[in-house]
Amino acid sequence: MSKETKKYRHYINGEWCDASDGGVIKTLNPTTEVVWAEAPAATVEDVDRAVVAAKSALYRGEWATMTASQRGKMINRLAALIRENAPSLGITETIDSGKLLTETRTQTTYVADYYEYFAGLADKLEGATLPIDKPDMHVYTLREPIGVVAAVVPWNAQMFLTATKLGPALAAGNTVVIKASEDAPAPMFEFAKLVEQAGFPPGVVNVITGHGETCGRTLTSHPDVSRVAFTGGPATASRIIQNTARNFAMVSLELGGKSPIIVFADANIEGAVNGIIAGNFGASGQSCVAGSRVILHESIHDQVVDMLIERAKQVEVGNPLDENTQMGPLATSSQLEHVESIVTRSCEQGASLFHGGARPANQERGYFFEPTILGCPHHDFESVDHELFGPVMSVLKFKDPDQAISIANNTRFGLGAGIFTESLSLSHWASSRIRSGIVYVNTYRVISPIAPFGGYAQSGYGREAGSESLLDYTRTKTVWVNTADRPMSNPFIMR
Ligand code: NAD
Repeated sequence: MSKETKKYRHYINGEWCDASDGGVIKTLNPTTEVVWAEAPAATVEDVDRAVVAAKSALYRGEWATMTASQRGKMINRLAALIRENAPSLGITETIDSGKLLTETRTQTTYVADYYEYFAGLADKLEGATLPIDKPDMHVYTLREPIGVVAAVVPWNAQMFLTATKLGPALAAGNTVVIKASEDAPAPMFEFAKLVEQAGFPPGVVNVITGHGETCGRTLTSHPDVSRVAFTGGPATASRIIQNTARNFAMVSLELGGKSPIIVFADANIEGAVNGIIAGNFGASGQSCVAGSRVILHESIHDQVVDMLIERAKQVEVGNPLDENTQMGPLATSSQLEHVESIVTRSCEQGASLFHGGARPANQERGYFFEPTILGCPHHDFESVDHELFGPVMSVLKFKDPDQAISIANNTRFGLGAGIFTESLSLSHWASSRIRSGIVYVNTYRVISPIAPFGGYAQSGYGREAGSESLLDYTRTKTVWVNTADRPMSNPFIMR
């Protein structure tokens, strides 16, 4: 560990603190494999302190009495600080996770738009006056915050994945404990500095990190947590559902995927190839919507595969801080081993290795993996069935549109899907038949604060972004007012 190792601290109740037992997590730069920062590893006691702070801010003090418009203004202040600091936040995220600086910088700037979107919605949350079917009753509903929200995020896009939870949670008046990923926690602590600068009252936003089984489990099963917003893998999600069986917290789950990209015979091939590259080599394939099952019509299969191989050969793999790099390393050594082992086993099963399949020879250090293309004659290959979260696509072939849809739907996931065709009717037909939460037609890997994001089946439930997602951070209270000038009548009959 070098002398210049950065030291981060938890942000709890508006104060910076170490873990109660002094424990730390050392975080590696995946490009150099050198420890560059350390953060506290939250103990059960630390998690409890963060939740107690969040609960206290919810019911007492400035936040509890703030109007929705004031909350919106405060979120806008945070957005402005994020935009101003996007270049340095991008650098931190790139060093810690290996994602391209060109992407982390752009994405962090765009993250500010997410906060602005939810800031604008804060004072548009309305209840209703009900045209009730009883005389002398005035009945109305209120949209109230749910309570303490636990936001648990993975390492691959923490600024963005936090924004889709924290933005609506704060707009609706909740308080939040963010659990940063232990694999790359640094950007979240840089972000916490901006939360402090924006002037949120102590306890409204708390940022901690720690190991899944201590910090994550304690947080998501804490009796005072009422809402869990989780992004991560399905195995962890299943543990989180068990954890929330203790506190009955409402849960939303944004999980993994094995998304199909279908290229029909009439597609614009260049556009389709760009979509496939974006869906598989963008973020080194460490994207939940990675379009890792590429389903090509038999008439264009060879042409598209040849073009993909040519493009894969040209991908600049290297230091993610370099502006010309197109693919950085994977985030962790275990992630690299996971990808490598699935590719090896799939080849042993009979998949054709069209390109890549190994660590690049010219990278001496770092968790790099080549852009990889596998030809798979059918679905029974590990690379077709499992989420790799790496730069690996599995190419399949189809004869007619029905077969394409049946291959696309042959998965336990359902997050994204891509369709490339010049036919308007075919695109609508296919969009309606694919079982996934997001469908991209003649494009891929696009996001917006305005567009709901989320999956079907084992890709999770609940939607992030979009105005509907705000309602997921509220609950409805119904108020009955007897307006009659006589007392309530017979107490033994429910009317
Ligand atoms: P992960 O599930 O291992 O970890 C995610 C978070 O959960 C981490 O902060 C971890 O510490 C925490 N955690 C682990 N065990 C826990 C427990 N028992 N209780 C509570 N929390 C616990 O995921 P990862 O490997 O960090 O990220 C990759 C996964 O995330 C992939 O499956 C990817 O598809 C998914 N992902 C989904 C989306 C989406 O929006 N759908 C976006 C990005 C990533």
